[in-house]
Formats: sequence, structure tokens, C-alpha cells
Amino acid sequence: MIHNKSIVELGAGLQTGEFSSVELTHHFIQRIEQLDKDLNAFVSTTPEQALAEAESADQAIKTGQAGPLTGIPIVQKDIFCTRGVKTSCGSKMLDNFISPYDATVVEKLKRAGVVSLGKANMDEFAMGSSNETSFYGPVHNPWDKGRVPGGSSGGSAAAVAARLAVAATGTDTGGSIRQPAAFCGITGLKPTYGRISRFGMIAFASSLDQAGPMTRDAADAALMLQAMAGFDPKDSTCANQPVPDYSATLSDSLEGLKVGLPREYFGEGLDPSVAASVDAAIDLYKRLGAEVIDISLPNSGLAVPTYYVVAPAECSSNLSRFDGVRFGYRCQQPKDLEDLYKRSRGEGFGAEVKRRIMIGTYALSAGYYDAYYLKAQKTRHLISDDFKQAFKTVDVIMGPTTPTPAFGLGEKVDDPVTMYLNDIYTIATNLAGLPGVSIPIEPVSGLPVGLQIIGNYFTEAKLLNVAHRFQQETEWHRLAPEDSRLNP
Ligand code: GLN
Repeated sequence: MIHNKSIVELGAGLQTGEFSSVELTHHFIQRIEQLDKDLNAFVSTTPEQALAEAESADQAIKTGQAGPLTGIPIVQKDIFCTRGVKTSCGSKMLDNFISPYDATVVEKLKRAGVVSLGKANMDEFAMGSSNETSFYGPVHNPWDKGRVPGGSSGGSAAAVAARLAVAATGTDTGGSIRQPAAFCGITGLKPTYGRISRFGMIAFASSLDQAGPMTRDAADAALMLQAMAGFDPKDSTCANQPVPDYSATLSDSLEGLKVGLPREYFGEGLDPSVAASVDAAIDLYKRLGAEVIDISLPNSGLAVPTYYVVAPAECSSNLSRFDGVRFGYRCQQPKDLEDLYKRSRGEGFGAEVKRRIMIGTYALSAGYYDAYYLKAQKTRHLISDDFKQAFKTVDVIMGPTTPTPAFGLGEKVDDPVTMYLNDIYTIATNLAGLPGVSIPIEPVSGLPVGLQIIGNYFTEAKLLNVAHRFQQETEWHRLAPEDSRLNP
């Protein structure tokens, strides 16, 4: 079926005229209409815009001006500003917000010729690990609709897994690309902090947020990253570093690759069947010529508590702009300015966002700043130093992406700390600003599981090479949810 094809495969079909981008786009629009009722992966769809983009893509293909992404239907996480299209960030606060401009990521992907099918559901302001904090309701995992797809890029992951889009954009502040990629059986890459512009990407925690591709496989991720990455004068934290050709080195040999296994990532709390699946993946890497080295990241235990001071502190500051005055939700008939602020924010934000704003405001307040925020900045340094040490002896670090496969909808909503612990293996890389990718490995009881591969700064090409070599030897990334209605 055409929807099971990857970007690379579809690109070939478009080039030879086997099908047109308009036909391909129609096919995906139909699938979304039929299947998204049960998944809720989309906040909005833009079929007219998609078909217009597909027509110009077909034109570009005819005149020999097409690139590898020309005419490929994708979905944008609803955290990216899209000109003329609702950009809600999963919140009631922005339910009425039509962005007047495009995020740099959106602009770059448009220039590369993609077709945008719509905007993907997500946790409110990207705060969550299960997509249950969205104002638009939870997303269902296409592998088992009673389970969560992960978060915060849960709509993006579910859409790609269910073949409602060929690829998606996501953002990752503490795991939001890698964790849902693992839960939905797709490939998710969180690049080095600064690799991709954050301009027009609604801010959660500015020193941690990073955009990245969510795709079927590493070869597709290379193509998406190629289009998304690069310097942007509109984002002062965006790195002015050359962008290598990510597809060129995908098949390089892994002979002699040094793989570090942090003992802290294989301890208590890790589901034994997930551990077995990770072990099997590592065995394959050994057969491909990798040398496995035991390492320690001694401050791993500090990652979650550090993150839950730093991220809320930054979000409390970033979200102060939503005041009911300039844009977004405004309460009815405010009595005075203070009432306007209080009720607009009180009614516009959901419970998780309020919890974070309160924690962050507290941590930053006079008298507590040194005890919490400053302390967290210090432990953040220790965590980065652990990685610096490790990368003196290894090329990449491997471990599970998450401690368990996807959990049930509603299972953890009332227990924020258990929910936060889901990101135990992903958060440290954000604190250090490092890149990481999650790829599908052998499922556990029919549910997808991810292997996380962490690299040193700006080694995305190496990560994609390591991921791609595995995918050349395995079929896990080709598995589709076994729901017969989703896969007729
Ligand atoms: N789950 C983490 C949180 O709730 C990470 C979210 C993210 O990466 N955006 O903050």
C-alpha cells in the first residue's frame, strides 16, 4: 500500500510518475477522514492548502526542480506557528490564535516542497508524557487505542505510525520526540541544542527546547533534518555550524564503533522485557562490529529533579506573555486589569500548565532562588560533565528510550511524579544539549519499544548512520499497527 512507503520510496515513485503528489495527498486526506476519529492525532487539517501545495509540487517535479521532500505529505506539531492556520499549542489559551507568520522550520520545509496535511495534537504547551494534557483531548496509540501514544509530540507520532502522514515534526524539551517515537514504533531524532532554529516554535523551556523529525526510519529522518537544520539569524541560540549531508554517510561501516552502556540506564525500574529487547539490539550492533563498553553516568539520578526545577522556572517566565491582552484567550467582561489577567490565565490554562507555572514561580522567587534554581543549574553542570567524561572513551551511548512500553490512558494522570519518571532516560540529554535518537526494536507483547542512541554535540550524521545500519538489518521499523481497520 502506498501509505506504507517511506519518504525515500515515495520520492522515487513521484520522480518516475508512478503517482502524482496530488494523488498521494488525496490518499492521505482520505485516511485522515476515515481513521483519525479514533486516534485524535490532528488538531486541525488543511486539505485545500495541502492539495494546492501538491499541485505546485507536481509542477516542480515536471520541470525538474524537485528535491527529495517535494510533494511528500507531512504533519506539523501544533507548536509551530503556521501562517493563516490555527496554532493552538494544545491549549485553550491559543484555541483562537491564527498565526500571522511561519516558524523557520515551517518556512524551510515549505521551501523544500513538502505538503502540509495539518497540525498535530500535543500536550498543552508541550508539558506532558502522554498527550493527556491537551485541551483537545488525548491521542490514542494506534497499536492499542486504550494506551497513550506518549508525549508531548503524541499526535505527530500516532499520525506517522498509523500512516496518516509520511513524516512529522516534533519538539523535545525532555523527551517529547524520543518517548512518543518509542511508544508508537517510529524513528524520532532530537538534534543538538541549536541545530534547528526555535523561531516561531512556541517556547516551553528555552534552554532545553529543540525541534526534530519523526519518521518511519533513519533515512527519512536524514532528509527531514537536512531541510530543518541550519543557522537562523532570528534565533540567537541557533548554531552557526555547517550542515553536513546527512544522507551521505548513512551506510558507513560500524566496525570499531565504541558503544557506551551506562549502568544507570539498566537498573531498577527498567521493565525486564524492555531490557531483553534492548540487549538483543546491542547484540546486533556487536555483530556489526561495535565494541561495547560499560560506562557510568553517576549523576543520572539528578536529571529528573533538576529538570523539574529548570523547565518550570523557564516556562513560568515564557508563559507570562499569555495575559489576555495581546493575543489568545480573554475572559468575558473583566472588572478591571487584574481581573482580566487572573481570569484569562485561570480559565485559559489547564491543570498541568498551572502546576508548572506555580513550581517555577516559587523556584525563582526571592529567598528560594539559591536553594532551587541556582542549585539546579549546578546539578545541570554535573550531568553535562558526566557525558563529557563518557565521550572521551565512547562514540555513542545506548540504552532504552523508556522504562516500559506505552501505558494505559488514565493510568498515570493523577500521579504527576510517576508520570515525570517516564522521561528518566531522555531528560539528561536535554539538560546537556546533546542529540539523541530513538529507533524501534523488537516489540514487547505486541507493543513498540525504542532503543535510544545518544551522541556527542553535532554528531547527528553519526547517530543516523548508527540507526540506519540497524534498520538495514532488521524489519522492526517496517511494522505497522496490527489494527485491521488501520491496515486494510
Ligand atoms: N515529559 C516532559 C515534560 O512533561 C518532557 C516534555 C517535552 O519534552 N516537551 O516536561
